Amino acid sequence: MSFYQYYLAHKDFDFNSFFSSITTTDIERILAKDKINAYDFLSLLSPQAEKHLESMAEKAQKLSLQHFGKAILLFTPMYIANHCINKCAYCGFNVGNRIKRKKLTAEEIEQEAKAIAATGLRHILFLTGESPAQSPVSYIAKAAGILKKHFHSVGIEIYPLTEQEYSQVIDAGVDSLTVYQEVYDEGIYDKVHLAGPKRNYSFRLDAPERACRAKIRSVNIGALLGLNEWCKEAFFTGLHADYLQNKYPDVAVSVSLPRIRPHAGTFQDIFPVNDKSLVQIMLALRIFLPYTGITISTRERQEYRDHLIPLGVTKMSAGVSTEVGGHSSEDKGEGQFEIADNRNVAKMKQAILAKGYQPVSKDWMSF
Ligand code: SF4
Repeated sequence: MSFYQYYLAHKDFDFNSFFSSITTTDIERILAKDKINAYDFLSLLSPQAEKHLESMAEKAQKLSLQHFGKAILLFTPMYIANHCINKCAYCGFNVGNRIKRKKLTAEEIEQEAKAIAATGLRHILFLTGESPAQSPVSYIAKAAGILKKHFHSVGIEIYPLTEQEYSQVIDAGVDSLTVYQEVYDEGIYDKVHLAGPKRNYSFRLDAPERACRAKIRSVNIGALLGLNEWCKEAFFTGLHADYLQNKYPDVAVSVSLPRIRPHAGTFQDIFPVNDKSLVQIMLALRIFLPYTGITISTRERQEYRDHLIPLGVTKMSAGVSTEVGGHSSEDKGEGQFEIADNRNVAKMKQAILAKGYQPVSKDWMSF
């Protein structure tokens, strides 16, 4: 049984009737519980729960302190290629967009790694577009081997692999995987993924599980908020994380909450997610999954990111460039999307300290 069966079981769930039955008493009863179930979680994503954000924040903050202390792990993404054979309507790397494509050589990866490591960061997440021909598993493995020399944790955000391919990259030094389903609603998924292998919904959905079976240390999942009604996408993200955490207790599961940002192309079909709703998602997730990591990226503006720190965030990116070779090269490839928080690592550390939290550059070391 994979998470797809869980998705199918809830696919036609009547969210509107469920939400219309939620009362203030229900929310108060849920917030008084030590452990909440999936329907309690959904109740916390309801319009009714929006009136209880303060009580939710209090509980979420307490749980975050209990499970993570006052530590925020810093990392940065490093784009090593932007070739892509998919046509995702919402992405600047989309095969149909005429952008400058680039793929770093081994020497350029090393140079980029040195530039990032010099900032003090020890966790790296490297990304490619999704082109198995331009960025084959052998290229990913080689890049991991180079990065391993400079970083204690090496993560990938690439096209979904088979279990055996995940084993190969893990052997080469990869210890964490980020793979976003983008949108859990299968109908919308079909509509926004216009061409390419990414159209295979279930192969992508099961990618984190294949990596877990290949014995990866951590997986990070999420939906690109803005492609569907946020409460539904947040619900399936939470269910998915809960499913992985229960089935693979040795794997550290975390979620990201990316909101759509401006990018090359003209995609307009966006379901708005305002700041308050993003806070509500984060609080509900923390209360449902008290020991799941939550990442907030530089897609969000700096004041807002700072405000989120005490509410449940465990991991933040800093010193970000979404361009290929963006940290060290004169000849960069085009970026994936515009970022909203341009602070470098030193400034991000200061901001975290100013909130009374500790910026952490390394919380893991492989042997
Ligand atoms: S979202 Fe990923 S797969 Fe889709 S076009 Fe962008 S880089 Fe390619």
